Amino acid sequence: MNYNDFFIMPNHEYITNLNDSQKEAVLHITGPLLIVAGAGSGKTRVLTSRIAHILSEGKAFPNEILAVTFTNKAAREMQVRISKILGNKQVGLPWLGTFHSICAKILRRHANAVSLNYNFTIIDQDDQIRLIKTICKSENIDIKKISPNYIISLINKWKNNAWYPADVRLKRNDNLEKQLLKIYKIYQDKLLGLNACDFGDLILHSVNIFEKNMDITEMYSRKLKYILVDEYQDTNLIQSKWLRLLTKTHNNICCVGDDDQSIYSWRGAEIKNFLEFDKIYKDTKIIRLEENYRSTQNILNVASELISNNENRLGKNLNSNKNEGELIKLNCFRSGKDEAIGISDIIEKEMSKKYKLNEVAILVRAIFQTREFEERFLKIGLPYRILGGIKFYERSEIKDCIAYLRIIYQNKDDLAFERIVNVPKRSVGESTFKQINQFSKENNLSLEKSSMKLIELNKIKPKTKTSLLLFLKLIEKWRNDYFIKKLSHIKLLQLVLDESGYSNLLKNKKDLENENKLENIKELISAMKEFDNLESFLEHVSLATSIDQDWNGEKVNLMTMHASKGLEFNAVFLPGWEEGLFPHQRSIDEKGHNGLEEERRLAYVGITRSKEIAHISFSMNRFYQGDWIDSISSRFIDELPEKYVKRNNNFDTVEEDYFDFNQDIENDKSDYRSPGWIRYQKRIK
Ligand code: ATP
Ligand code: MG
Repeated sequence: MNYNDFFIMPNHEYITNLNDSQKEAVLHITGPLLIVAGAGSGKTRVLTSRIAHILSEGKAFPNEILAVTFTNKAAREMQVRISKILGNKQVGLPWLGTFHSICAKILRRHANAVSLNYNFTIIDQDDQIRLIKTICKSENIDIKKISPNYIISLINKWKNNAWYPADVRLKRNDNLEKQLLKIYKIYQDKLLGLNACDFGDLILHSVNIFEKNMDITEMYSRKLKYILVDEYQDTNLIQSKWLRLLTKTHNNICCVGDDDQSIYSWRGAEIKNFLEFDKIYKDTKIIRLEENYRSTQNILNVASELISNNENRLGKNLNSNKNEGELIKLNCFRSGKDEAIGISDIIEKEMSKKYKLNEVAILVRAIFQTREFEERFLKIGLPYRILGGIKFYERSEIKDCIAYLRIIYQNKDDLAFERIVNVPKRSVGESTFKQINQFSKENNLSLEKSSMKLIELNKIKPKTKTSLLLFLKLIEKWRNDYFIKKLSHIKLLQLVLDESGYSNLLKNKKDLENENKLENIKELISAMKEFDNLESFLEHVSLATSIDQDWNGEKVNLMTMHASKGLEFNAVFLPGWEEGLFPHQRSIDEKGHNGLEEERRLAYVGITRSKEIAHISFSMNRFYQGDWIDSISSRFIDELPEKYVKRNNNFDTVEEDYFDFNQDIENDKSDYRSPGWIRYQKRIK
């Protein structure tokens, strides 16, 4: 069989539209290749074109190519672009996804090798916290002194280093770490008992399977002829280990990245992976891309000058192939609220005339900053979406629905059982739940099985017994409906909502909150239609990142700078450039100079998301952590090159109601002499 039988040779548009360095990168498909290039230079485009090239040249079947993207959204976009390039004759698509989603796929196939069942549940941070709290309780650890979040971050760190509990190397005489290691061990055992894993496990278990089973590793590494990785500067140690194992046979790996955009060290990203790529992969070819196709020259000049203040960087040239464009605007506001009013005015009066709202983004350093924008947008009726706030799947009513589906799908899922056993109320109070929990521990049974056993032994009080039994019978019935009667996953949820009494719970008490909840559940049902079955839907839910939301409809995009990586917009607003907020004090406190440099890289990422318009702003007062503070404009503002920046004083954009709302500021003229104001005045003189 010939590969070429499968494909029409496309018109090679994907090559003719590239510059020489990009072409070289697309055509060099044998051996390790590292593409080092600045923002907007076409790195992601090169990856897509490479896949098209490999396929159209018949070098591999689609399922012999693996491409790792930073978000599921990026994977979907790549999928669309490849399909467009190759037309509809192509058969199947390459393996495209994030490290997590690809590892989840591999793990389902080989779950037995790490003592899991194929239908394991992937738990989220909420579940992680609940588990850790339970463990702390049984181990007599005071969570007021050691927060569950801290314990989880330590466990994640160990997992990013590819350490199971037995591999953890403790600092000598560190009793606290010793205690936390014990928790880690119990936590892992509990996860196995629940037939579940957390995000870190997806990759940890995959690497473990590969290391212990050379036949499996070989099967994959032989099969995957070409491996491509986007945003390589933000990979961590275990991800690089995973890639190394998979490239063993063919060694055809192409990674693209930008050291100036490494912004995830707090999640364990190791810039060393990127800088020392050629030490891991012998005979690496390195290609640099120096032409920027995204931003105007002015935007690039500002971003380049700002990032040149970092000492730890490779350094690179970037030239725009666009014209100079408009100057970057620097706006000064009196308060955060004023900033939100000012920016939404500019969007409403200027941007919406030029661009679709989808092409406008507000990128913030901290998610709390979105609140003031949200209030303003609601008031003036400007459509918006928040990416990276509370995820759709994190809403309580959605979590309830998912918990019902999870327990139907996987009977050991105690976390799901616990969530819905008494929702709607079934008289299963705290004491009954304790009793079930205790029985489950003593007999090593799931909560569901323990409940049934306790009923059989007649140990549950009569009132609870009837309703608990009804609930257990319903779960059995729903399982039967789905697995035996082959009811669709959508019908299943509708049935569950009706038969469990959940719909009535919301319908009986008519208020705005419940109406919203019902709307959200309708939205959930329509989202489920995109999936073939319960399994793929549940997998999607557990792997969805904050950026993987509905992008349909014309709306202004509000998100963190972290979440904006890889994206581009015609107009970008960057509010809140104030000391303490940006650069964020915590980064500097925790990581000193390195922390500051990472914040500066974040600024670079933010500015370079813009194609044409960039507005940076700061406010002189901000209501922050329960208090009004005088803010000082960010040191990054001092680093912006004057030549390409237009400064504005935005005091007159303030609406009247602002003064009513903030009488204290109106009357207190002292804020005009706040440090931020003084510095600002000096600068505009
Ligand atoms: P980032 O570092 O932000 O991830 P990137 O290097 O991945 O950026 P891309 O997103 O691939 O850059 O490309 C930036 C923009 O430039 C995209 O709109 C892309 O379509 C366009 N582009 C890239 N290369 C070319 C080219 N040769 N001709 C025309 N447009 C191009
Ligand atoms: Mg990119």
